[in-house]
Amino acid sequence: MNNNPIYVTSPMMPSLDEFHTLLEEIWKSKTLTNNGNFHQLLESELCKYLNIPYISLFTNGTLPLITALQALHITGEVITTPFSFVATTHALWWNGIKPVFVDIEPVTCNLDPDKIEAAITSRTTAIMPVHVYGNPCDITKIQAIADKYNLKVIYDAAHAFGVKVNGESILKAGDISTLSFHATKVFNTIEGGALVMHDIQTKKQIDYLKNFGFADETTVVAPGINSKMDEIRSAYGLLNLRQIDAAIEQRRKIVNLYKEELKSIQGISFFNNMPGVDYNYSYFPIFIDKEVFGMTRDALYEKMKSMNIFGRRYFYPLISNFSTYRGLESSNPKNLPVATHMAESVICLPLYSHLSTQDVERILTCIIS
Ligand SMILES: *Cc1c(COP(=O)(O)O)cnc(C)c1O
Repeated sequence: MNNNPIYVTSPMMPSLDEFHTLLEEIWKSKTLTNNGNFHQLLESELCKYLNIPYISLFTNGTLPLITALQALHITGEVITTPFSFVATTHALWWNGIKPVFVDIEPVTCNLDPDKIEAAITSRTTAIMPVHVYGNPCDITKIQAIADKYNLKVIYDAAHAFGVKVNGESILKAGDISTLSFHATKVFNTIEGGALVMHDIQTKKQIDYLKNFGFADETTVVAPGINSKMDEIRSAYGLLNLRQIDAAIEQRRKIVNLYKEELKSIQGISFFNNMPGVDYNYSYFPIFIDKEVFGMTRDALYEKMKSMNIFGRRYFYPLISNFSTYRGLESSNPKNLPVATHMAESVICLPLYSHLSTQDVERILTCIIS
């Protein structure tokens, strides 16, 4: 059996020949950025693919979070999840907002809607949930709470590209949603990201904010930042968009292979698909019960590593355990028992569209034997 390293992910890339053809166009036009043709085309193609009215492309997936908070004038305290990538909470910090961590529920690992109300204070202005692993949040319950307390809802949908609930894009939920097109994500533009909004006014406002606040040559309407996507990565994204459906289908098959083999293994659990959800199969997390499985999560992680298989413990440590946030009252592990437990038992197994069946078998053999 070969012993090549298998990483948790590997990027989907367009054909080099096709990319070269688009690069030649860019070289001819000498338009490299500032809302060029490829940027506009990628925005319209993404709106069509995702079935959303408006999108604004960004240079990565963190600046959309920071910019969304600016656009919606969020201040004070924001309720969020500790079970995510650090960028979610860092975006609050960069806006001088106090994160208030609320525990997750075990069925999806998303913010537990039944625990949100108890964390609301007179300073709370918004809820920032994450559709973690692409599992949709309980958007109905979260919206009901937001409406009751007059709060904004900003979804970090970095994992949820293409996810639908009852045929509707999950990106239609809340006031605004953010996407990441980083190389490790289901759909990538190398680095990149986007904001998804519901009306043209917000789209215009966001487009100003990502370009220094310029409305025209001499008018600056807001203290904006620079986070525009360039033409080269827009062109790369257009090519990747053509193969996204095939890639998601491959991911689905690999996840089904994993599930078929692991469902009979005592002490390993994974998420079951919920009815009505179209998943994007962005991650395949498994959860280890050390007593039943007879090995700790970390021991399994190390065993895999020793066989050149690099799973990742997403999301461990919890964001609330990083030094910047550890001192917050809501960071106390007693406030976050489910998140703490999940973070200590999770491993994401390698998953990408071109992961071979042989490699899946090698990973399964390592886990099971
Ligand atoms: C990847 C990711 C981000 C940040 O995206 P970048 O494109 O890497 O800046 C934000 N939130 C979550 C949940 C992510 O996984």
